[in-house]
Amino acid sequence: MVFLSLGVRALVNVEALNMVESVGNIVRHRKAAIVYKRDSAYVVRWVPAVSGESLAHSYQALLASLARQRGLPVCTYCSKHEFVKHADRRIFGDLDWEKKLASRLESVEGGRRRQQVNALEVMHEVEKTIITNCVVEDIGGFLYAGKIPVKRTSRFSCSFMIPALDAVEKAVVETQFQVRHAPTASQVWDQAQMPYNVEVGSAVYAWSFYMDLSSIGCTSAVKSECLGDDERRKRVELAIDALALMLDSRLFGAKHSRFMPVVGYELILVTLSKPLPFNVSPPAMGPCFVEDTVKRIEAFVKATNSSVEVYGYAGDGDAEKLLKANNVRVYKTIVELFEEVKRKALEWLKSQA
Ligand SMILES: [Zn+2]
Repeated sequence: MVFLSLGVRALVNVEALNMVESVGNIVRHRKAAIVYKRDSAYVVRWVPAVSGESLAHSYQALLASLARQRGLPVCTYCSKHEFVKHADRRIFGDLDWEKKLASRLESVEGGRRRQQVNALEVMHEVEKTIITNCVVEDIGGFLYAGKIPVKRTSRFSCSFMIPALDAVEKAVVETQFQVRHAPTASQVWDQAQMPYNVEVGSAVYAWSFYMDLSSIGCTSAVKSECLGDDERRKRVELAIDALALMLDSRLFGAKHSRFMPVVGYELILVTLSKPLPFNVSPPAMGPCFVEDTVKRIEAFVKATNSSVEVYGYAGDGDAEKLLKANNVRVYKTIVELFEEVKRKALEWLKSQA
């Protein structure tokens, strides 16, 4: 296994990245209840949050766009950033392989022939066909919910983005009053100048992400069968490049058109590990997550004989000092950091092949 793990802390101001409902003229921000320790007692607080689904959508949208640019295969709906993922035969797209797979499933799932088919063989065939032809579902997983259900677990996992616990008292949600200026239109339609309110959040947010790079391009539902080495290498490059693009260009969440947030990264820590998976400590616990991660790496390497590499990015002088004090290599930009992560990951994957 070659395993990538990421922890991010970012100061985000005036964001409407993840809205959940409209009540009258108010559009509400997603909130989550979190528990944390204040003095010696635990308290509960509702804070602005961005869901893991929202962040996974942004990541997969970038995967789909980059893949198409590079000539890697993407299915009909993933190309449109509609991640319905072959959940049902009715929403299989109109590419030849999708039509063939739909009719194959219709024939094996329907009627008496069901008894004669080997369900495990069908499950393997479905997974192999879909991952061969759609890199988004290879990396992001899918669930076909037919009579012979097939599940591919996502190769990546991500947390909600929530306010860091050390700065949670400074996390706010406030309502911004807006009104469209339409003095003449409102003479003919009284709702033309309708006021509305949008909840916006500001906080030091923390986010965690991990990905198993070595199983990209390999089936896993029934048995492991891998695509060619060259194709797998291109897909691993794609998976890392899309993550770098998402973070560096701040392309995540919704409602950017008029509420594009001001995002300043404080700390980014990335680890690569093999053969066992190592995860960066939660960045929500405070800047101490750097020291905690580094201590855990030392113990982990000794106990498991694994290799772990650690890479850091600092948004300010304090963060840089903290990384250097913990012997973490500091990169000037997020793109350069991920270039190095990619180089090492490909080197490790090649040695495992
Ligand atoms: Zn797809």
